[in-house]
Amino acid sequence: MRKEVGLYVHIPFCVRKCAYCDFPSFAGREKDMEAYADRLIGEMKEKADPGVIVATLYVGGGTPSLLPPALMERILEALRNTFDFLPDAECSCECNPGTVTEDFLRTLKKGGVNRLSFGAQACQERLLRLLGRIHTWEQVEESVSMAKARGFSNLNLDLMLGLPGQTLSDVEETLEKTLSLSPTHLSCYGLIVEEGTKMHDQVERGAWRLPDEETERDMYELCRSALSRRGFIQYEISNFALPGFACRHNLDCWRRREYIGLGSSACGFLDGVRYRNPPALDDYLAGKPPEKTILTPEDARFESVMLGLRTVEGVSEEAFYRMHGVPLWDVYGEKLKNSLKNGLVIRENGFLKLTRRGMDLQNRVLVDLL
Ligand code: SF4
Repeated sequence: MRKEVGLYVHIPFCVRKCAYCDFPSFAGREKDMEAYADRLIGEMKEKADPGVIVATLYVGGGTPSLLPPALMERILEALRNTFDFLPDAECSCECNPGTVTEDFLRTLKKGGVNRLSFGAQACQERLLRLLGRIHTWEQVEESVSMAKARGFSNLNLDLMLGLPGQTLSDVEETLEKTLSLSPTHLSCYGLIVEEGTKMHDQVERGAWRLPDEETERDMYELCRSALSRRGFIQYEISNFALPGFACRHNLDCWRRREYIGLGSSACGFLDGVRYRNPPALDDYLAGKPPEKTILTPEDARFESVMLGLRTVEGVSEEAFYRMHGVPLWDVYGEKLKNSLKNGLVIRENGFLKLTRRGMDLQNRVLVDLL
């Protein structure tokens, strides 16, 4: 029987760098797109394996929708020619409003993509400008409407919370406008201000002020309650979906299933080895090999708990035993005592999971486990 795996393809090109972005993405490198597609196809051949079948594909970035449709077509075709896919494989592609064209959507449809994820972030012009996004809210609406017209019905929108100057009523307005587009999935991420970004400089200089912790928590709660009222189920700290529309690719990662990563900076996890391709575009194009980490049994067990606790379902005791050959509570029972006593985690129906309070204080639980 063939092993089911995920497939991640990284497209590192962007129109320009957003103010908060420390992702491995590059602006002004359009001239390298063709060579990148060639290298990607070369890497597919190196990683081809008749023993695996693809259950989920995720094309992320960067801005995949910045690729010329002809190049995206080549990449999608090469994926299908190199790997076998399950007939109902979930195939997602990230799209940034402002770069989405009819041609690009047609190409995705033809290439078997059946789920789109739009980086919408917020509906207020002042917040989009502050983030350095290239799009307007009108372009979000336009992109979603083009996608629907092309027959895409499984749509995610990414939103951001905790932005400088963002208020609770901004979040409320963004949620309202977003829900009016009938998405099946929403990701609501708290802003992380990373060193080395423009956002970090501005915050350090005091030019931009972040909302305090309590306001940010209120924003998160606002999302939770508004989305729950509209039938969305929270299945991970930042992710909400209508029944049946949770992102299988991400869920598989949190359940520590194996996946193949392709492209610059892409990570993969196969046969107990995690690898990361070179993050620098030139190194990747030159064929520099990935960095590999062989996990110790302790690392592997910790990963299972750390990743599983992100999800609302939690860590399955049965899956943990199957994967590691030892009961979860034998390994972590002692270390979990405090978190259990303080109401941060619970044990329920064969799962270890965070409580609502534990979701806000997840790091405290993880520190105990280390
Ligand atoms: S579009 Fe995404 S990847 Fe590109 S610069 Fe902005 S945040 Fe970074």
